[in-house]
This record gives sequence, structure tokens and C-alpha cells, in this order.
Amino acid sequence: MHAARNVLLCSKDCLCLFVCPTGATDTEDGQVDFSKCLDGCRLCIDACPSHALYLVPDNYALPQKKSDEMKSCLKKLAKAKIEQECLSASLEKSAKNPIERQLAHSFAKSNRIMAEDCVREAGFMLPQSEEVRSLLAGLLEQEQPEGFPREVVEELLTLLG
Ligand code: SF4
Ligand code: SF4
Repeated sequence: MHAARNVLLCSKDCLCLFVCPTGATDTEDGQVDFSKCLDGCRLCIDACPSHALYLVPDNYALPQKKSDEMKSCLKKLAKAKIEQECLSASLEKSAKNPIERQLAHSFAKSNRIMAEDCVREAGFMLPQSEEVRSLLAGLLEQEQPEGFPREVVEELLTLLG
């Protein structure tokens, strides 16, 4: 286990810098230096008043296996929900009154949530899944638009092993 920091919660009062015996919390990019973290001694976590620090395991369990048939059904369902979300979003734009607009907005949101759920269930729930790895590898094989963060994707793939 090692500590990690949610920089969005960090209020920068620096208690973790004082208590960490190895200096792992004192980094330029705001992230905990895993290589210096003492197997999650928790001193920084207990000291942090903002609950910005937490422990993460070194290795994650593999996701539950799903049959190809199940994955294919979930992907089809996700596609249908994405289409319904787009349709609802366009209805929202053309709605003539606030009630119609709100209704279309709610449809769009609920379809988005269902689509995300289907995608997760189809094998993309955990970053260490085979599906996520092949998705990332596939992105690198395609021609990418300007600004595509190729180095980030390559780093992610290395981290996922
Ligand atoms: S103790 Fe918590 S709030 Fe303070 S700098 Fe560390 S992570 Fe941020
Ligand atoms: S868990 Fe311990 S060693 Fe790791 S960053 Fe926090 S205080 Fe430092």
C-alpha cells in the first residue's frame, strides 16, 4: 500500500509534509512519491485535516470475467443509450418551454448514466482490465488528432503492465 493525494481536496496546510518521515509527500507535482512511501504508514493520512490523502493498494484484483455474448449485448445497449442521450440533448435545444426543456435534459442525463453503467459492466470498470488495455493500445495505433496526449496514454499502458 502507499499514500496518494487528491489535489482537489488538498488545502495546502502542509501537515503531511511535517509528519512524513521520508519526504514522500513533499513533491513538485503535488503527488505522493510512491518510491519513498513506507508501505502506507498512514502518518500523513491521519494528520491531514482535509481528508485529501488516502491509501491505494500496490496491486489490484482482476475484474470479474464476462462472456463475449454478455459484453456484446452491453456494448449494443450502451450505443443505444448514447444515441438516446444525443436525441434528448437535441430535443432540449429545440424545446419551446421550460418544462419540455427540463424533461429532455433529464432524459439526456439518465441515458448518460445508463450508458456509463453499461460500458463499465462491459469490462471497462477497472483500469487494469484487458478491455481498457486494448482500448488504450488501439488508440495508439490509430491516426490521432492534433493535441492527442500520446505520451500520457503510453505512460498509462506502462503503468497497467
Ligand atoms: S496535510 Fe492534507 S491538506 Fe495539508 S498539504 Fe497535506 S494533503 Fe494537503
Ligand atoms: S504513508 Fe507514511 S511514508 Fe507514505 S507518504 Fe504518508 S507519511 Fe509518508
